[in-house]
Amino acid sequence: MTTESPSINLTSHDDVVRVEDLKVSFYTQLGVVRALNGVSFNIPRGRVLGIVGESGCGKSITGLSIMQLVVAAGRTEGGRILFREDAGQEPPVNILDYGKNSPEMRKIRGNNISMIFQEPMSSLNPCYTVGNQIEEAILLHQTSDKTEAHKRAVDVLTKVGMPNPSRIAASYPHELSGGMRQRAMIAMALSCNPTLLIADEPTTALDVTTEAQILDLMRGLQSEIGTSIMFITHNMGVVAQMCDEVAVMYMGRVVERATVDDIFYEPRHPYTISLLQSIPRLGRTKGRLASIEGSVPDPYSTTPGCSFHPRCPVAIKGLCDTIIPEETIVDAAKGHTVRCHLNS
Ligand code: SF4
Repeated sequence: MTTESPSINLTSHDDVVRVEDLKVSFYTQLGVVRALNGVSFNIPRGRVLGIVGESGCGKSITGLSIMQLVVAAGRTEGGRILFREDAGQEPPVNILDYGKNSPEMRKIRGNNISMIFQEPMSSLNPCYTVGNQIEEAILLHQTSDKTEAHKRAVDVLTKVGMPNPSRIAASYPHELSGGMRQRAMIAMALSCNPTLLIADEPTTALDVTTEAQILDLMRGLQSEIGTSIMFITHNMGVVAQMCDEVAVMYMGRVVERATVDDIFYEPRHPYTISLLQSIPRLGRTKGRLASIEGSVPDPYSTTPGCSFHPRCPVAIKGLCDTIIPEETIVDAAKGHTVRCHLNS
């Protein structure tokens, strides 16, 4: 049965983070880019949520907003980001109530919530050793004892599978391979045992063998430490391997949200179906891979109605091009929601 009610609460008191109707815009000389148009999702404690979609759909901006790291041209124009450090904490804190550089935000960032970026060289400081950079986070948030901080840095490098961790701690980032730099980033992100880890395409720049090792490592650490992960990716294969639940984004909105099984076996939104049709499958050896017609609209323009309608193969004229579909719950027990007139 299909039930329409965006107000039905699919979230629980054990959500680590709950993003509600988040709106972020960028004011540039060329015009206004409405990057997030009301993004809502929740991440339960100890779970991995995949955020997927094409480039420019707002995945990274969502992660940066949670960290309050959106660049100066970006403005948060609505919504809430509720965060619970401890299970059952009531009320949760609204991260957006804190200033970007406030003491509260500096305590949360890097300590309770950490982020791993796609290209480690853009995040690691080339002038400091890997050990120094991990110790800095530990000294800032966990202990003021330098010997203890160094010991913890070496421990965490051991945990992420670094061979000879003491030597790696004394190395500069340029002395490490791409895979080892990414492990060093993961070590830095996990050094303070964060409640939430935001991983923004952490394996995109790696070869497939190293990617498989890093994904194995992250899954192992996640089940050992119990950290919740928001895993941003455009790779549906990585989603299948890593995630418990998936939020599919298009043009700054979550258009479908479901368990990973439902996304792969019972997708409801035409965009999700198109994304799945465009990935290669084992056993399918003939024919061309399907592609999604058209391209993501110009970010400076506003598409009336459903933002996917210019590319949607089943768009309904007069409805899809005029009215924005509401979020509809298609399976409350499994938390499956979709934003499409065909499912309302
Ligand atoms: Fe396609 Fe209409 Fe559904 Fe949008 S609302 S995905 S245009 S059918």
